[in-house]
Amino acid sequence: NLSERLERSFKILKGEGKITEINVAETLKDVRRALLDADVNYKVAKNFTDTVKTKALGMNVLTAVKPGQLMVKIVHDELAKLMGGEATELHLSGKPSIILMSGLQGSGKTTFSGKLANMLKTKQHKNPMLVACDVYRPAAIEQLKVVGAQVGVPVYAEDENKNVNEIALHAIQEAKAKGHDVVIVDTAGRLAVDESMMREIASLKDAIHPDETLFVVDSMTGQDAVNTAKEFNDRLDFDGVVLTKLDGDTRGGAALSIRTVVTKPIKFIGTGEKMEAIDVFHPERMADRILGMGDVVSLVERAQEQFDEEEAKRLQKKIQKNKFDFDDFLKQIEQIKKMGNLKELASMIPGVGKAIKDVDIDDNAFNGIEAIIRSMTPQERTHPEVLNQSRKMRIAKGSGTSIQEVNRLVKQFDQTRKMMKMVTGNQAMSMMARMKD
Ligand code: GDP
Ligand code: MG
Repeated sequence: NLSERLERSFKILKGEGKITEINVAETLKDVRRALLDADVNYKVAKNFTDTVKTKALGMNVLTAVKPGQLMVKIVHDELAKLMGGEATELHLSGKPSIILMSGLQGSGKTTFSGKLANMLKTKQHKNPMLVACDVYRPAAIEQLKVVGAQVGVPVYAEDENKNVNEIALHAIQEAKAKGHDVVIVDTAGRLAVDESMMREIASLKDAIHPDETLFVVDSMTGQDAVNTAKEFNDRLDFDGVVLTKLDGDTRGGAALSIRTVVTKPIKFIGTGEKMEAIDVFHPERMADRILGMGDVVSLVERAQEQFDEEEAKRLQKKIQKNKFDFDDFLKQIEQIKKMGNLKELASMIPGVGKAIKDVDIDDNAFNGIEAIIRSMTPQERTHPEVLNQSRKMRIAKGSGTSIQEVNRLVKQFDQTRKMMKMVTGNQAMSMMARMKD
């Protein structure tokens, strides 16, 4: 793991009051090795450490008060610079704006098309339309329809026509007629780069003149990702990269090299299978993440977005009056679930990421609890004190759980309620997240 490796190198620096030229060189060698292990291209890694060395010596790192910290800062800033410095936006000026997806099969194009449509719709108040141009497998069209339905965005598809250029042009006509301002074209990929796929997508690009051609790549494919990016870029001259499957602990090496090798910005990252698991790519944050500082900024933003202020205040009042009940509890569980994959969220917290790497937290973690609460009557939910043995038995049967599980939940709920009195709404929420263990 790159973060761990870098951390270890930096510890050497941090541990010593004074850095000598020799241990700067040693550390940089370590940094380079760590980068190579994280799938960073050799040339990129070498250039990177050379730059850091020049910077470090230029900034008199050897005589600095806190040389270790200065080194970490230099490495951090250079990493961010290497990945493009600042976040890059989509250029959507066409009427409608057209976004073309490209990439290998399984890279995450269809999933990302849905995520992007959802993001444009909910955050930028656009009215997008999805277009199915992966016509070789009926399942692919069906998959896009499912994704579209999930995010409430219409999908244009032609079941008989196999000419993707025609389909896309028809779709654009339809979008104009129906007032859609963004058209997202999902395409077919092959398992590896091949000539007929390249020809098809290049011809499609010529036919529809997209505002943005995005290259979608699975970040778990490491060095291969870089080679694939190069081949697609040579052919399509795409505008930006989407790095998918950057969930939790995935190595970020591909992000570093792709940017240098194809000199195109990374615009988005995918961090999970859910439609909400999309983030604008921030080089600074990615540098933090690679250095193992935890992507706290993203985490806080995500939490804020999903956690309704009003709801928090209402909850706080109830807690203060000791009126927090199972209905509130259920609502809170729904809030937490909305925030996306729990493990993914938790992994962004500094120090937690590594600790929970092998722990199995999934979105089903709350299923038992939810079933139990849903089997309670309204009175039982608002007045948990009425829960006697026979009621608990009935609830266990109704929820397909056991009396022990019901007892455990009621006991934990009581404890939580007591503790909650002492804390605020947001803290309460994190406490609930812990309760399901
Ligand atoms: P396509 O062939 O390029 O259209 O790829 P798909 O969108 O069908 O995605 C292939 C698989 O990767 C599916 O199982 C997706 O659920 C999964 N996937 C896509 N994006 C992500 C992501 O960001 N994280 C994770 N964990 N899985 C993803
Ligand atoms: Mg697909």
